[in-house]
Amino acid sequence: MTTIPVPRTESRDASYEVIVGRGVGERLPALLGERCPAHVYAVITDSRVAPLYGERTLAALEAAGLTARLFSFPAGEWNKVRDTWADLCDRMIAAGIGRDAAVVALGGGVAGDLGGFVAATLHRGIPYVQVPTTVLAMVDASVGGKTGIDLPAGKNLVGAFHAPRFVLADIDTLGTLPRNQIASGCAEAIKHGVVADAAYADEVGRGAAACLARALEALGPIVERSIRIKGAVVAADERDHGRRQILNFGHTVAHAVEARSGYALLHGEAVAIGMVVEATLAETLGVARAGTRRRVLELVERYELPCTIPETVATEDLLDAMRVDKKVRAGAVRFALPAAIGEMAHSADGAWTVEVDPPEIRAALEASR
Ligand code: NAD
Repeated sequence: MTTIPVPRTESRDASYEVIVGRGVGERLPALLGERCPAHVYAVITDSRVAPLYGERTLAALEAAGLTARLFSFPAGEWNKVRDTWADLCDRMIAAGIGRDAAVVALGGGVAGDLGGFVAATLHRGIPYVQVPTTVLAMVDASVGGKTGIDLPAGKNLVGAFHAPRFVLADIDTLGTLPRNQIASGCAEAIKHGVVADAAYADEVGRGAAACLARALEALGPIVERSIRIKGAVVAADERDHGRRQILNFGHTVAHAVEARSGYALLHGEAVAIGMVVEATLAETLGVARAGTRRRVLELVERYELPCTIPETVATEDLLDAMRVDKKVRAGAVRFALPAAIGEMAHSADGAWTVEVDPPEIRAALEASR
């Protein structure tokens, strides 16, 4: 078991820890009692995770003398929307979940973002904990306190910063995760290497075969190293005004591809495509050292992730979708771009994103078909 602290600049008292390792899920009832005491726990999870880990979690909490209720919603990114949020809030209020309750967000990034957003908004905010069960949620979504939902116009357009009391990542739960979901999560691990640590990018690349074969002894160290990278970046810039934006590498394109393909791709698959397109852009603009794109592509291919934009999505639609990206400033689309593997571009005035004109974006999108 490893414990990784995530300091919080805004409120040192509210700093939290990510507890990661094999079998750590057993510690949930004790940790809730110590670090997130509540009258009742609302376990929010999706319809796939509920039979795998939801019922078991409920039974473990009750066996420890805690009161808990399970609230499940239909699995899938297309359910990370207002209606699901409203339905969960209505059901929780009807079940008597009051201000003295806490949420356990159990599952992938969708359960984490949605469960976290319910916790951030119900009764103007109640405490919550993250119990991620996908690689993607462990290495990325559960750490950093961003919660939210998608709108028809785009991803994550409504949300709140709401830090969890702790994050509990039990590597054993990855044993039931399908291969494409493992690959999708590893796309975010590749991103962590590209944005912050070249040696780690190499390590993620070397681990591809074992990770795809779902070898937990290979996945464990990757999950842990990614959490350390993400934790350090978010601790230094909690509200995403500066360096935290490097974590958006690949995501300007990814969010547009996801939204305009009707969520036909997994989040990490869209991120893989986005990283290749944005690395192309970085080289074309002279921001990235030659060879950066080729290395990103190699890493993505090792995980059998897609690297080209689906034929069904038009370039102009993607450009439209990018105009609602959260990094847009004064109408201009901005990208977090690599200078090299392990190092992100930033300007002398401290900006971690680069403004790019539509013709250049269009050319990079067309080159990735
Ligand atoms: P997901 O939550 O949809 O999970 C993927 C699928 O795996 C689902 O069908 C789920 O039911 C199933 N599943 C979950 N755990 C399982 C297990 N152990 N065994 C078998 N099946 C399991 O998707 P995801 O890829 O985990 O997360 C993607 C979401 O995370 C996106 O909405 C993305 O925007 C969000 N995200 C948020 C942040 C953040 O900082 N808040 C960062 C990155 C991504």
